[in-house]
Amino acid sequence: MTSVEQAQALMGADIEVENIYDEIEIDDMDFEADENTFYYPCPCGDKFRITLMQLKEGVIIATCPSCSLQIKIISDEDFLEDFLLENDIEL
Ligand SMILES: [Zn+2]
Repeated sequence: MTSVEQAQALMGADIEVENIYDEIEIDDMDFEADENTFYYPCPCGDKFRITLMQLKEGVIIATCPSCSLQIKIISDEDFLEDFLLENDIEL
C-alpha cells in the first residue's frame, strides 16, 4: 500500500478502534451547548470531540482533529435520552 492509499483507507473508516487512548465516562466530558458537542482534553493540546448526533447514531468513539488518538466513551443506554430531556434539546 502506498502512503496515499493508507491515508485514504484511514479517512474512509467510520470507526477506527485501533488507536484508543483511553476510556472516558461521558459524565467526565465537557458539554458545549452551542455546538451540541462533548469535549475532552487530548494529550496533544487539542480536544477529543463527539456530537450528540453522533451519540444518537451509536458512535462511541470520540476523535481529536489534531492527532490520531481516539477515546472510547462510556455511557449507559439511558444517558442520551435523559440528557436531551434535562437540557431540553431536540435532535
Ligand atoms: Zn490530539
